[in-house]
Amino acid sequence: PVRTRFAPSPTGFLHLGSLRTALYNYLLARNTNGQFLLRLEDTDQKRLVPGAEENIYEVLKWCKINYDETPVKQSKRKSVYDKYVKTLLSSGMAYRCFCSKERLNDLRRSAMELKPPSMASYDRCCAHLAKEEIESRLAQDTPFTVRFKSPEQYPTFADVLHGEINLQPQVNYNDRRYDDLILVKSDKLPTYHLANVVDDHLMGITHVIRGEEWLPSTPKHIALYNAFGWDYPKFIHIPLLTTVGDKKLSKRKGDMSISSLKNQGVLPEALVNFCALFGWSPPRDLASKKHECFSMEDLEKLFNLNGLTKGNTKVDDKKLWFFNKHFLQERISDPVMLKELVDGIMPSLESRYNALTVNREKVSKILLDCGSCLTKIDDFRDEFCYFFEKPKYDNNDSVTKFLSKNENHHVVELLKKFGQFKEGANAQDVESMIDTMYREHGFSKNVIYQTIRFALAGCHSGAKIAVMIDILGVEESNKRLAEGLE
Ligand code: GLU
Repeated sequence: PVRTRFAPSPTGFLHLGSLRTALYNYLLARNTNGQFLLRLEDTDQKRLVPGAEENIYEVLKWCKINYDETPVKQSKRKSVYDKYVKTLLSSGMAYRCFCSKERLNDLRRSAMELKPPSMASYDRCCAHLAKEEIESRLAQDTPFTVRFKSPEQYPTFADVLHGEINLQPQVNYNDRRYDDLILVKSDKLPTYHLANVVDDHLMGITHVIRGEEWLPSTPKHIALYNAFGWDYPKFIHIPLLTTVGDKKLSKRKGDMSISSLKNQGVLPEALVNFCALFGWSPPRDLASKKHECFSMEDLEKLFNLNGLTKGNTKVDDKKLWFFNKHFLQERISDPVMLKELVDGIMPSLESRYNALTVNREKVSKILLDCGSCLTKIDDFRDEFCYFFEKPKYDNNDSVTKFLSKNENHHVVELLKKFGQFKEGANAQDVESMIDTMYREHGFSKNVIYQTIRFALAGCHSGAKIAVMIDILGVEESNKRLAEGLE
């Protein structure tokens, strides 16, 4: 069975790129009835960021990317890695390196001066230490690292997305410089490379979907698998995300963080939909039918590796807000979700407006009748202010703005005389009142609508007039009509 994993390092907060990696691994597992696991690659103690681990759990939960087993934490598995390092040490495929930092720095400098320069710098001096020598240094507690005796020729491998990969390190073997990967650091904790390979093997991982930035490491990982005599998983390196223009989302790196998107009012369904389409496209026929809007359930059914794309994918936040609007509508039309939305905005409404004007039924009704214009729920408070307080009629923006002087006067006079809504006025009554004005006096309907809307809401756009009257009540509506047309 397929077993995938998401293996973040808690060295920063999750961003769009890492969420996409998690999502693809999750979707592949779900699509194939396999398992999806979580592993925290936290052996680089110096780079750990406080709160990053919690952020990983929170974001996955929020997005409903659920893992199947208890998360594996590498920092707790030192003894496991020690055991595997021992086997490499005793077979001679790894060796302890006691060289000082200064010596290694000198080697690095001189490697760069070679012709051609060598990215690999180590001269393998500690690979030749006599047994007694090693023993005496260990007895003296000399700090050491463990290095992998890397092969002169790295294995080639087939990436599912990119095909045959042959990446050889830039090594100057004539000058005996080697790319001997450090497996265990001087703090005795394993490096990313060792822990990653050991755990993918022990966790039975069959497919590794990860960012392209890891592609250069993969030949080294495969060399390690070979040294252990293990099969290695299928690798799928997905393209990096790039950003479009100078949009808010792309301005600073922080804007790509999931927490900041959440704070900006992004819904998890929208984010999942958005991430899914960075570098993957659904089968054609389905894509057009569903207008690109896919729920997690849809994605679990549709996702497969064939739909992955190779090119770098552009992040365009317009798309994100498009999905957000879509999923906000879905939430509004679901009674349980609607209740949650109302719960979510009540406090901010109560703190802003007179409590007497705010109640749950009214808020639900506004959402149901007028919510389709919202891109995010946080816009509710400002967008619908006129339902909670008297509009502040701005003289600069009065009815006169959109009516010619002549028309203005007449419409206002007429509305004053005749535009009183009757108790229980409904859409039809409003419609027929406007119709009469239109027929008997020849004003454009549009002008009449706008005049009434301005009086009721203090703005020129917004909900339908009948809906406004319904929510405000006839008494309040009449009052506003009188006042607004002063
Ligand atoms: N810890 C690595 C990361 O943060 C994992 C890479 C991999 O998936 O192998 O991206």
